[in-house]
Amino acid sequence: MRWLMGGRVLDVVTGEVRRADVGIADGRIATIGTGARRDPDDDVVDVSGSWLLPGLIDCHVHLTLPTDAGDPVAASSRSDAAVALYAAAAAERTLRAGITTVRDVGGWNYVEMAVRDAIRQGLARGPRMFLAGRLLSITTATVDYYPGMYEVADGADAVRAAARRQLARGADLIKVMATGAMLSSETEDSRAIQFTLDELRAAVEIAHDNFKHVAAHCHAGRGIHNAVDAGVDSIEHGTFADDDALRKMAAAGTVLVPTVCASELLFRDAAAVASMPPHLLERMQSFNDLHVATLRRAHELGVTLVMGTDAGTPGNHHGMNAWECVFMTEMVGLSPLESIRSATLHAARLLRQDDLGHLDVGAHADVIVVPDDPLDDISSVTRVSTVVAAGDVVGR
Ligand SMILES: [Zn+2]
Repeated sequence: MRWLMGGRVLDVVTGEVRRADVGIADGRIATIGTGARRDPDDDVVDVSGSWLLPGLIDCHVHLTLPTDAGDPVAASSRSDAAVALYAAAAAERTLRAGITTVRDVGGWNYVEMAVRDAIRQGLARGPRMFLAGRLLSITTATVDYYPGMYEVADGADAVRAAARRQLARGADLIKVMATGAMLSSETEDSRAIQFTLDELRAAVEIAHDNFKHVAAHCHAGRGIHNAVDAGVDSIEHGTFADDDALRKMAAAGTVLVPTVCASELLFRDAAAVASMPPHLLERMQSFNDLHVATLRRAHELGVTLVMGTDAGTPGNHHGMNAWECVFMTEMVGLSPLESIRSATLHAARLLRQDDLGHLDVGAHADVIVVPDDPLDDISSVTRVSTVVAAGDVVGR
């Protein structure tokens, strides 16, 4: 048995904080409370004076994408071996920052699946990984930027086949590009509708028939309408959503993954900004205020936000993921507790993982220790002192 002794534990369901010792066995929480009896050979970690939260869950990462270069072309011709080594290091950095679970919504030639397997086998350190494999897209010149990430499929039958290929490779979800992207080729309009309703329905059919969920990249409002009508589970970004689209999401229970880090962390990284092609930088700058305003409106209208950063885009470094919680609180208007719930409870629900995202007996022992009261100062989640992943103390 391992003990995290003397800390204050946040119950993310009730929002209450209580003094409790957490006992861990076989990767799960075995007991939680005060006055428990310990054996002399138990392993004790003293966390007195600190706060304990569930490990954070980032529902939008690209572990295989390098964050230093502003120009996507610079990374387009890497060998798969180089990508795998990079992704393994990115996974470890992410875990050490307190992100104990990630959803990768666009990998690279499936090397991220090898990284996931290596982590499971104990050959590498990293978070639990839920993977989309390649993302599904219409024909677009953006493939030149991300040749290992895009799976082009035009027409419903081609989409069904492409979705099946991801599942056969071991995908845990399907990612679809319902609209144009920001970090895309000059000829691709980020406001354009891409997959048709018919094509989106085809992707959802295959995913849901196989007990998997669907993440839809969407900026344009009509793309969101199509995606919600098709039955997708999460909308990524949501930049141009109007009230109609947001109300539709709230009514359908479709969650929104904000990815504020993609622009906020880029703007803080002078080297990434300097090396970014002009058309990309212009888009990131001109749509940022609108994106944040849309997220605020989504929150007001009752749309559930689920934490996701887009880590892997330029300047959006792996391991800085928890800043999304800070941005959701300071820029989007969530309370600290709401922003923690978006990175724990709500994220686990999207991933259909009942045993993640909360600290209760029987849940996975994914725990982070932070130095200050996160309900008082949300930036505390960016200063994680200890990470426990499946009961193991990371770094010991
Ligand atoms: Zn992304």
